[in-house]
Amino acid sequence: MIVVIGSINMDLVLRVPRMPLPGETLTGGAFRTIPGGKGANQAVACARLGRTQVAMVGCVGDDAFGATLRAALAADGIDVSHVSALPGVATGVASILVDANGQNSIVIAGGANDLLTPALIDAALPLIARASIVVLQLETPLDTVRHAIAVAHGLGKTVVLNPAPAASLPAGVLAQVDYLVPNEIEAAMLLGADIAADDHATTAAALRAAGCRNVLVTLGAKGVHAALADGSRDFPARAVAAVDTTAAGDTFIGGFVAALAAGADPASAIDLGQRAAAIGVTRHGAQTSIPYLNELAPT
Ligand code: ATP
Repeated sequence: MIVVIGSINMDLVLRVPRMPLPGETLTGGAFRTIPGGKGANQAVACARLGRTQVAMVGCVGDDAFGATLRAALAADGIDVSHVSALPGVATGVASILVDANGQNSIVIAGGANDLLTPALIDAALPLIARASIVVLQLETPLDTVRHAIAVAHGLGKTVVLNPAPAASLPAGVLAQVDYLVPNEIEAAMLLGADIAADDHATTAAALRAAGCRNVLVTLGAKGVHAALADGSRDFPARAVAAVDTTAAGDTFIGGFVAALAAGADPASAIDLGQRAAAIGVTRHGAQTSIPYLNELAPT
């Protein structure tokens, strides 16, 4: 089993001709609600890109968005028994404006995600105990993430951390992470150092020196630089005509974890994640863009 612990949001996506100025009202937009949140996206990607059972641990509110998001996860075959619907709380939302050039502005209201407590992680212990891999991000309270990592590591689980959105982490956390998957900005933030942004090998090596067993730095259209326990390598991305890179990182991580759970070696798992993300970026939205395993071309 793969357990994903993290955020569950409804993305409120409004396409606009251009970004509004302060105080301005624009008309002519088109509106869609699309299930999102890094945690939920990664759970959906794990489910669609593999055959291992996936369970989600997270919080929604007891409102219409919460019910829809829980149902969307269940529709992908994900165990939602530890997705708590908290009374009197709003489900997390991301308000996203996308202009005619595809540029976006995003504001997130964490809502119920901010109330994922260490006690709710403890309540999910029977689930975590059955997992081979536990996947986390940083869109829920840091204390809870730290607790969950300590619990999963203590139980001998493979811990995958996507340190997004960018934050610095307390010493000791990285030493409990088996696969750290930051993008370039998140990697720099973790190091808090002035390593040149394009020196990925040095960045990844520094994060390994900080204690992570393996580091995969995602580089958008340039692919992934991986510093693995058995050596470092660049994995170029597939060349595609991208229309929307929302959830590219989540799709990559889901594909990577799903393959790892199925017994693939890290290099093959990275390849599967990249093939999936290359399809995802040719489609719009978060969970709407995540492909299924049978859509991936054979290697
Ligand atoms: P996001 O926050 O939008 O989910 P991210 O910053 O976490 O993304 P990226 O590094 O942008 O993650 O992308 C993750 C992976 O997706 C890349 O390593 C690559 O394999 C794939 N990818 C992203 N953008 C492209 C692209 N334009 N063309 C092909 N593959 C892409």
